[in-house]
Amino acid sequence: MKLYDLLDNAKCYERIRQFRWPDGVTCPHCGSDNITLQGKDESQPDRQCYSCKNCQRK
Ligand SMILES: [Zn+2]
Repeated sequence: MKLYDLLDNAKCYERIRQFRWPDGVTCPHCGSDNITLQGKDESQPDRQCYSCKNCQRK
């Protein structure tokens, strides 16, 4: 995979994030904005993993 493709992929995820959470990340399960970053998904390094402090879900 070329570097350009990686960057493009990351940009794409960034856009999806902004589209889904324009006011910041909220939990899809309980709607809480009490979210902690959990690092990157190992199989999909462009995706940021989140964990909800409220319901403990990812
Ligand atoms: Zn939650």
